[in-house]
Amino acid sequence: MSQVPTSQAPTSPAPTSNVPVTKIPSANCASNTLDNNTLDTTSIEPTTLAARLARPELLELTPYQSARRLGGRGDIWINANESPFNNVAVAELDLSKLNRYPECQPPALINAYSQYSGVAESKIVASRGADEAIELLIRAFCISGIDAIATFGPTYGMYAISAQTFNVGVKALSLTAEYGLPSDFATAARGAKLVFICNPNNPTGTVIDKARIEQAIQALPDAIVVVDEAYIEFCPEYSVADLLESYPNLVVLRTLSKAFALAGARCGFLLANEGIIEIIMRVIAPYPVPLPVSEVAVQALSPAGIARMKTQVKELNAQGERLAAALNLYCEQWGGAVLTPNGNYVLAEFDDVAKVAQLLIDNGIVARAYKDPRLAKAIRFSFSSQADTDRLVSLFESQKL
Ligand code: PMP
Repeated sequence: MSQVPTSQAPTSPAPTSNVPVTKIPSANCASNTLDNNTLDTTSIEPTTLAARLARPELLELTPYQSARRLGGRGDIWINANESPFNNVAVAELDLSKLNRYPECQPPALINAYSQYSGVAESKIVASRGADEAIELLIRAFCISGIDAIATFGPTYGMYAISAQTFNVGVKALSLTAEYGLPSDFATAARGAKLVFICNPNNPTGTVIDKARIEQAIQALPDAIVVVDEAYIEFCPEYSVADLLESYPNLVVLRTLSKAFALAGARCGFLLANEGIIEIIMRVIAPYPVPLPVSEVAVQALSPAGIARMKTQVKELNAQGERLAAALNLYCEQWGGAVLTPNGNYVLAEFDDVAKVAQLLIDNGIVARAYKDPRLAKAIRFSFSSQADTDRLVSLFESQKL
């Protein structure tokens, strides 16, 4: 079993594709430090009926290596930026109408998210996680084999993978050395219909300030700028949701998977002006939000739920600071660097990443490493409970000479 594992990187689209761009840096593909699962990552030979009938680009595609798909072994799971808290009061959920289909967009849920976010109900679509919102955008706006999206990497892998599954091109652009938008971003992204900016960025944890994002929105008036704010509760001052009033080409993505501790519920939101919402509602599934999910989500978005979320964010940020400090001390001694975190995770680069990967394996800690050459020495650690953080801190401190 490899230490920092060996799943293959996403590959270019199939040769039959007309899609304009697509050199995905082996990039966005992540792997666990305990990965022993290389399934799904090799190309499929067109020998079976299914493979002969499949869209050719899918035979070459490496599906997203989600934390669950990769697996791992250990007792501290800090590889998926999940919350360590479980808040759901199951007894209070009303499941009495499970014999009926739910509303396509449950009004209580949309109302609760509107109250929480300050965004008008008419500008909100609830989806099966932010991942489905990414897919809806690509399906709604990109013509297969013709159009492209743009991403700034290293970043969240699902933008590129979702595009590839629809044979949509990917302009895989790079963030600057300081993880900002490059000065020529508008020229570089020109022609892409959707331009994804992840803020705070996963996996670097870095942020782009609001004025810079507003410039990007203004500089690309004929494209849709999608700002993924999956982790915004950890640095709410960076949100651009209030700019929705001013820009018809802005989309903001949100999720309940992170600060709201509901990764298992699969509930996300696409925020945009009505023109975009109207198109999205043409491609969305008939019942994208299962009734138990909206029940759980409305509970989380109640005033008490929001207050609890804010308390837990403070607690997680405090644990994250302790973890980052311990990593900094380790890196001072053994070589490496720690990026200042803004989400619920911290990315550290180690001179000897194999040694750290082995240390984590030996101690039952499942964190996340990457195939992207820009992140070859990096490991991402999600913030966790006090008990988990105690163990991590003492592990890194025990490495002091
Ligand atoms: N965007 C980013 C930046 C993420 O890190 C994730 C989840 N890891 C998502 C979107 C998807 O979130 P969800 O669980 O809502 O599908």
